[in-house]
Order: sequence, then C-alpha cells, then structure tokens
Amino acid sequence: MILPITTYTDEVLHQTAKPLKGVDGAVEELIASMFESMENASGIGLAAPQVGHSLRLLILDISCMKSFEDVAPMVVINPHILSVKGKNLMEEGCLSVPGVQGDVQRPSSITLKYRDRNFLEQTEEFSGMLARVLQHEIDHLSGTLFIDRMEKRDRRKIQKELNDIAEGNIEVDYPLARACSRDGGGTICM
Ligand SMILES: [Zn+2]
Repeated sequence: MILPITTYTDEVLHQTAKPLKGVDGAVEELIASMFESMENASGIGLAAPQVGHSLRLLILDISCMKSFEDVAPMVVINPHILSVKGKNLMEEGCLSVPGVQGDVQRPSSITLKYRDRNFLEQTEEFSGMLARVLQHEIDHLSGTLFIDRMEKRDRRKIQKELNDIAEGNIEVDYPLARACSRDGGGTICM
C-alpha cells in the first residue's frame, strides 16, 4: 500500500522514534508498504516517521543509482552508530522536504549495530553512499532533518522553499510530497 509521505512541518518528523520489540505481521506489512511508497516517490531511503510511524525502522535501496546496481536493499531496525570515521560533504534531498537540496557534512564511514528484517543483530561498517543514506535516515529517528545540519548561510537561502512547503504550496507527484529526479541533476532524495 502506498502511504502518504509526511512533510517537514509534521510533528512526527520532530519526535524521537520508539524502538521495535520484534518483527510481527504488522511490522512486515509496514516494511512492504514503505518499500512500495519509496519506489513510488523515487526515493533511495525512507524512515518510518516519514510515513507517520514513530518507530526506529528504516529502509533503503540505492540499486537504482548508477554503479550501485548490485547493492541489495536493506531493512534496518533499532540502529545504533557505534563509531564514525572521516567526513565528507554531499548534496542531499529528502522526500519530506520536497524541492529543497543542500550540502551536508557527515562522517564518511560508520560502524553500525542494528537488527535486520529477521530481527537478528548485526554489526557492520558502512562507507560511501550507504553510510550517507543510513545517517540521513537514522537522523529521521531522532527528529533531525538534513536541513538542520546545513550551514546557517545555506539554510537562509532555502527559507522561501521551506515556507512554501509549510503553506502546502508545493506540487507533488506522490502523496503529500514531490518526486525528485535522480537523472540529470543527480540529486538524491531519502
Ligand atoms: Zn529524509
């Protein structure tokens, strides 16, 4: 089922999400709906609060991006970043902040403890694009948006776009938000 995407003025995007105790039928159904909603919106990552559920659950699938065709989709539950290394700057977008892009500095690699879709504990190191998308999505679980991590100067430049979203003055190709284009501009929405 395609679920509507929450936008940045929605309260659920500013809350601390609750950990999952396990994966039951309802959670499996939510995961399936999240994948459907993410594909429909042409996103490469989606966190549960973006579909209105304040749960520590996120999915990602970057296989539609050039040179990441072989990367398997991921389900990440109750993630906890154990350590980080390096840093890099990359332009980000977000399905919940349609029409806005901005440079964000983040660690370039992370060691992550999480539970997979079978609720088995995993500890793994991620770098590059996966580390980037994971950190963006994990931020969603603590009520942080990429625009909160932008330089103040850059953030001022997007204030008009943010006001437009707050006023509902946006054109959207998916329920409640606007699809981003991954071809041409290379912007990634997650
Ligand atoms: Zn996002």
